[in-house]
Amino acid sequence: MMYDRILIRYGELSTKGRNRKIFVDKLRKTIEKALISFPLAKVEAKRERMYVILNGENPEEITTVLKNIFGIQSFSPAIKLERDIDTIKEAALQLVSSLYKEGNTFKISARRADKSFSLDTGEINYLFGSHLLKNIPGLKVDVKNPTINVQIEVRSEAVYLSCENIAGAGGLPAGTSGKAMLMLSGGLDSPVAGYLSMKRGLELEGVHFFSPPFTSERAKQKVIDLSSKLANINGHFVLHIVPFTEIQQLIHKQIPENYTMTATRRLMLRITDEIRKRQEALAIVTGESLGQVASQTLESMYAINDVTNTPILRPLITVDKSEIIDIAQKIETHDISIRPYEDCCTVFVPSLPKTKPKKEKVQYYESFVDFEPMIQQAVEKVETIILKRNVRIDQSEEINSLF
Ligand code: ATP
Ligand code: MG
Repeated sequence: MMYDRILIRYGELSTKGRNRKIFVDKLRKTIEKALISFPLAKVEAKRERMYVILNGENPEEITTVLKNIFGIQSFSPAIKLERDIDTIKEAALQLVSSLYKEGNTFKISARRADKSFSLDTGEINYLFGSHLLKNIPGLKVDVKNPTINVQIEVRSEAVYLSCENIAGAGGLPAGTSGKAMLMLSGGLDSPVAGYLSMKRGLELEGVHFFSPPFTSERAKQKVIDLSSKLANINGHFVLHIVPFTEIQQLIHKQIPENYTMTATRRLMLRITDEIRKRQEALAIVTGESLGQVASQTLESMYAINDVTNTPILRPLITVDKSEIIDIAQKIETHDISIRPYEDCCTVFVPSLPKTKPKKEKVQYYESFVDFEPMIQQAVEKVETIILKRNVRIDQSEEINSLF
């Protein structure tokens, strides 16, 4: 194949005005990291477009990687050409001949980003279209639904020729929306909530509550495996594992049974918020959606949310379960999430949790216990794991060198 590069279109980026340079830089870095195993490939970032120069690397393999990177609207394997009409004619003919199969139709889609070029788009369409028709017997034009869409993009420095538009993952480049903490259980929902918020440019760190010996090592492993999948999206993922046993036991001793679930969630949120402050994040993401379970009624959210003013982002609030499952399958977290190991909430789950808890009541029940020292202690004892794309590092100190 003649392709020497992949041409990348930014999409939503182009509306971001002054932040554009930051967005383009972040996207370039993300792509460079993702292409680390293609040492010859070079990324070239321009204001309007980005290019991955192949230097002999395989375009199909690189395409597979690019499909998953947020901030890319679409991309095309392409050839860079001098702005010379004969050169373009020759290259277009070679490219279309190599793709042509009997019965195929085509059209030319010209785009003239540089208006100083000697031909306008109509003239480009006509000139190169007739050249192809003359030289490829059997080839026909179909402007509505062509098999081969020959795109000729004229820019000031060169002309780019491509025949295929591949849809990107959309969204915004990694980290361009700032940092948030993701409350990550072993369930189906929270990894999907994480994926959707990463798509909007959030950098996430996970927080998982773990209650040994009531929850097993295998339940913890499940969350680590989910985190590895999330690490594949942007290259790395930081997971904080919080020892929660003592607090849960105290809740069960001190709080009336029908309010333990509400109190448990409130304490999880308080601890997550403490970790958030330390990690300098500005929001908390959860996998909550409306109406699934007792903890997810509006009354319940109101009573739980009472412990903090930090924005709580709930990307799944309007998403149906079947859609959540589809996304979980796509990001390969589904089969991990449905492993049967218990999490700390299922072990301690009360037989009849309040579906309409009252904030004042839970505040009153909690007022008999000073949870603050235990919260601080839990935060002190957090185990931090850093997962990288296909590798795992196990030291908290590494965290600073990473950012
Ligand atoms: P999920 O499928 O994410 O487990 P769920 O439908 O089971 O969600 P809940 O159990 O009510 O719903 O949990 C709601 C949200 O609370 C979860 O999506 C997650 O963000 C957070 N959460 C629950 N348990 C934990 C935990 N052990 N550690 C961290 N966060 C948790
Ligand atoms: Mg759950």
